Amino acid sequence: MPVSLTRDACAARDAADPLAPLRAQFTLPPGLIYLDGNSLGVLPAATAARVQQVIAEEWGRGLIRSWNDAGWIDLPRRVGDKIARLVGARPGELVVADSTSVNLYKVLSAALRIAQAGSASRKVVLSERSNFPTDLYIAQSLVEQQGMRLELLDIDEIPARLRDDVAVLMLTQVNYRTGRMADMAALSAQAHAAGALALWDLAHSAGAVPVDLNGAGADFAVGCGYKYLNGGPGAPAFCWVHARHVERFRQPLSGWMGHAAPFVFQTGYEPAPGIARYLCGTPPVLGMAALECGVDTVLAAEPLGGMSALRAKSVALGELFLELVRERLGASGLRPFGPSQAAQRGSQVSLAVPADGSIDGYALMQALIERGVIGDYRAGDGSAEHPHLLRFGFTPLYLRYVDLFDAVQVLAELLASGAWRDARFARKAAVT
Ligand SMILES: *Cc1c(COP(=O)(O)O)cnc(C)c1O
Repeated sequence: MPVSLTRDACAARDAADPLAPLRAQFTLPPGLIYLDGNSLGVLPAATAARVQQVIAEEWGRGLIRSWNDAGWIDLPRRVGDKIARLVGARPGELVVADSTSVNLYKVLSAALRIAQAGSASRKVVLSERSNFPTDLYIAQSLVEQQGMRLELLDIDEIPARLRDDVAVLMLTQVNYRTGRMADMAALSAQAHAAGALALWDLAHSAGAVPVDLNGAGADFAVGCGYKYLNGGPGAPAFCWVHARHVERFRQPLSGWMGHAAPFVFQTGYEPAPGIARYLCGTPPVLGMAALECGVDTVLAAEPLGGMSALRAKSVALGELFLELVRERLGASGLRPFGPSQAAQRGSQVSLAVPADGSIDGYALMQALIERGVIGDYRAGDGSAEHPHLLRFGFTPLYLRYVDLFDAVQVLAELLASGAWRDARFARKAAVT
């Protein structure tokens, strides 16, 4: 093994890592290596006490007065302004609300209406074939309602397909399976050149890679609170609309929290100015309080270089992982799947299991989890193009270089011993 790939060399990198102190913000179970922060971020140390305070003091004692006294009513905008700092949005442009799926419904509806107002012959929503399913399902529902159609392509086929029948280009910036990161500025510009709008899902980018929504010329965006923002299971999500569009359409879920004057109790709906019209119902205060703690763990990196410093470490972690995999697992048949260039990769790496079926990726991941290394398994169709994947997410806020050394060590041991073949790791019949 090259000296640079020894455990001591990894420990030395941790000792020299300026971001290392950020790990103390989290409650990580001892002995566990968590490589699934791209699916569910870990619990910040501050969250339990903060949620307890909201329950006992703000709700318990303050009761309904807390909507004002504790600022509950401002949470969607206040936490939204914090997330805005991570994604290149200005204060007042982004709100926290609902789930990613619901926010996508709102912004895609608005985008379709705006595009069709420009030209009724724009009938196509363009997206990536391997986009996350909920995004495709929401788009399917909307295009059916509006007599439009959803066209799915591979990401490299998209630029050539951007013609004058396309209403909206809807992409997830970082692909959940491959980790491939799309060029938001270039694709948004290509969409605009064809007269289409560009809508971005930041589920795997907010808090993971530097994002500049305004700088990239994006039109709409949504994102997730429970992945790299560490907001907790089912945390509220967010949505952003470029200032040039925000007041052009009122979004279809016209609940009272998006009304211009919610507490006047008017009979007729009148949308609030700005991004507040993208709110629908009453904010989930406990979830928002937990999300704020999570977002604060990312903002804590600001004095240390912020998202660009986090990105640099995330790239270094990804490169180290790939080097260790090449060095130690090269003969196993597992192969890196996704971009080989760090610049085109988000904060995750996937390993494809061989198409010959010699490794059961599901069982291998179960065995890995039992040994204290948590990643996840994403089934494909088993072919070389769409393989079954072992997926590993790298959250630079709390991961150490030695964690990756140790994770690959465990993986190498499991493959060498064949211990993953034990029947207890096999997939139960009903799950496919
Ligand atoms: C995680 C994720 C979601 C999650 O949507 P929910 O509404 O929170 O279930 C949506 N889109 C993408 C691309 C995701 O990665």
